[in-house]
Amino acid sequence: MKIPIFAANWKMNHGPSDAREFMRSFLARYARHSDRTVAIFPSALAFHAVRESLDSRSDVLCGVQNIHFEDKGAFTGETSASMARDAGAKLALIGHSERRHVFGETDEEAGKKCAAAVRAGLAPMLCVGEKLEQRERGETDEVVVRQLTAGMAMLEAGQMSGLTVAYEPVWAIGTGKTATPADAAATHAVIRRYLRERAGERGSAIPILYGGSVNKGNAAQLLAAADVGGLLVGGASLDADGWSSIVCT
Ligand code: PEP
Repeated sequence: MKIPIFAANWKMNHGPSDAREFMRSFLARYARHSDRTVAIFPSALAFHAVRESLDSRSDVLCGVQNIHFEDKGAFTGETSASMARDAGAKLALIGHSERRHVFGETDEEAGKKCAAAVRAGLAPMLCVGEKLEQRERGETDEVVVRQLTAGMAMLEAGQMSGLTVAYEPVWAIGTGKTATPADAAATHAVIRRYLRERAGERGSAIPILYGGSVNKGNAAQLLAAADVGGLLVGGASLDADGWSSIVCT
């Protein structure tokens, strides 16, 4: 049975006070469900507030939006995977499109970050997706396979079990333009083929999430598309009421 994953990427929104209020409101609306996984990725400074609010709700996981690939050292402003794990994170977003396209993170850095996450006991959620001009040039499959190849380059077969992939077409993130379920399914099929080639049977079990302007109106249709194992949601995860509707899809 498919256990869908609903992941909220708050980006640089919700400081500690707002995060506490959000969690109070969300947890009051969302009862424990065994048939789905919910994960919240708050900002680094709101992480503790979210983590604390989940003391009696181990069914909701908490993750970080980014890590550095080194374990420690002179990297001002950065957070290592082991620090995130020590603070209670279970997951790390890796290679989100804003990291790649706003902060210039490379495919190879995403690969080092995936390896660092696994070393520290964090489950990497590797984000891949094409820009609009790449889609228009018919390069979608090539781009996502290149990003997957580099992102997974340092992972050994036995380290694939905690991996999740999120397909997030860059042109759909925060734009209100969602991929159709058929578009999402087509790229998810390419990703699944790659994962099987790369990881054999284990590759069949790696969840592939869709992300890009998901909201409570389109979540069910996207989730029903072939090989969509969950949703990664930005803007629509910021409001507790809307987010609880999405996770109850
Ligand atoms: C995201 O940030 O991962 C995302 C998918 O954002 P949005 O839902 O706002 O498009």
